[in-house]
Amino acid sequence: MIKKPDTQDEMYSQTFGKKPFEQAKSYAYAYMDGIHERNVFPTDEAVKNLAVFDEPFPAASSNAAELLRILHEYGSPATVTQTGGRYFGFVTGSSIPTALAAKWLADVWDQNAALYVMSPINAQLEATCEKWLVDLLGLPADTATGFVTGSSTANFCGLAAGRNELLKRQCWDVNVDGLFDAPKLRVVVGGQAHTTIFKALALLGLGKSRVEIVPTDSQGRMIADKMPELDSRCLVITQAGNVNSGAFDPIDEICDRARRVNAWVHVDGAFGLWAAGSRTKKILTQGIDKADSWAVDAHKTLNAPYDCGIILCKYREILIAAMQVTAAYIPHGEQRDGMQYTPEMSRRGRAVELWATLKFLGKDGVEELVDRLCDHAQRFADNLRAEGFRILNDVVFNQVLVACDSPEHTKATLENIQKSGECWCGGSVWNGEPAIRISVCSWATTVADVERSVAAFVTARNGAIFP
Ligand SMILES: *Cc1c(COP(=O)(O)O)cnc(C)c1O
Repeated sequence: MIKKPDTQDEMYSQTFGKKPFEQAKSYAYAYMDGIHERNVFPTDEAVKNLAVFDEPFPAASSNAAELLRILHEYGSPATVTQTGGRYFGFVTGSSIPTALAAKWLADVWDQNAALYVMSPINAQLEATCEKWLVDLLGLPADTATGFVTGSSTANFCGLAAGRNELLKRQCWDVNVDGLFDAPKLRVVVGGQAHTTIFKALALLGLGKSRVEIVPTDSQGRMIADKMPELDSRCLVITQAGNVNSGAFDPIDEICDRARRVNAWVHVDGAFGLWAAGSRTKKILTQGIDKADSWAVDAHKTLNAPYDCGIILCKYREILIAAMQVTAAYIPHGEQRDGMQYTPEMSRRGRAVELWATLKFLGKDGVEELVDRLCDHAQRFADNLRAEGFRILNDVVFNQVLVACDSPEHTKATLENIQKSGECWCGGSVWNGEPAIRISVCSWATTVADVERSVAAFVTARNGAIFP
């Protein structure tokens, strides 16, 4: 039970005493120390034990130490070890320890990133990150950034900016007059665009199906020659990094076509845009500087802690106009107000860990990280091929699609891999065929992790029982 505090000191020690933090810290260290030993995916027992959380809402206050103990005892083993070196499911990324430590500190600050007057430090770090990102990615000067949860929201913001601007050029203010009776826009999108693109289109009133789909090649890239004739009503959506194959659309050529007619080009570069930070991978992102908006996730390839996405827009005023909120009590001054660039008002100060990630790595570190993830993906492909697996994609970035002799064998092998606890990969379907999907996106992955995982693939395949 919480006793009603009588003094300021007592109140402080009850609500802000350091004991819970010490306790949480020791659990966190125990978790870090065990991360390489334990199953990558929780054991059946750990999952079963989650039933302890399935209780009625307690009537009375709970004991702090006991609550933290339960969280660690039952919660920690039921996590997926995406901060370890052998998690290859989805394109999640890990977190760089220095950045995570900075986030711990920022958690204690508990800043609201909406306005400068709510957090000068966060506003400063947003401004610094903006400058660094524009430099790192080679985007036009004065490109504006908004710091959001991830690329789902970043895509939404970029497409909102594009929609609004294309309509404004036709003398239609969608913020004021809405979409009913608005001049028609055309949405041009690759056949393998990420599902969040369609979600954003739906949220923006542009419709998931009112799109012109551009055919894709064997790697999932838009075929520029098969694009429809573009005009100034077109919102063109390209992709830097296909979630299955890792392939990049021919953005340079698409941008050239779009520029000739004043169409808007958005780049969904959730994990792939970081290729721009590597001298050997940069070629994949050629021409991105000619686009109008970009979405990227720092929590993926860059290994910033969750959640950390960025919308970048070449025209500051257009992004601000699309996200605009005004109210008498909201003072916008000379300084950066983060909420002007994002859909949310209250937000956590995620620029802190982004800044820490970028400052810790530096340009060389980003390049080394990107190159290392790609090298590991290549190593996976080479070693698995040598073991008799089929590699279904051209490995150009961090993604590898793997198959066995038959669809049934592939599915059974994947199931065994997932059960093994040795590593974790997801499944997908590639050109109509089931595939095991490897995403290498943790700084913590070593050559030994790749080799151990390949061995797990072989064991899983050899032991696979299928009809
Ligand atoms: C992950 C991803 C998204 C969605 O990003 P979130 O951060 O999960 O919201 C969008 N597009 C691509 C290509 C992705 O890989």
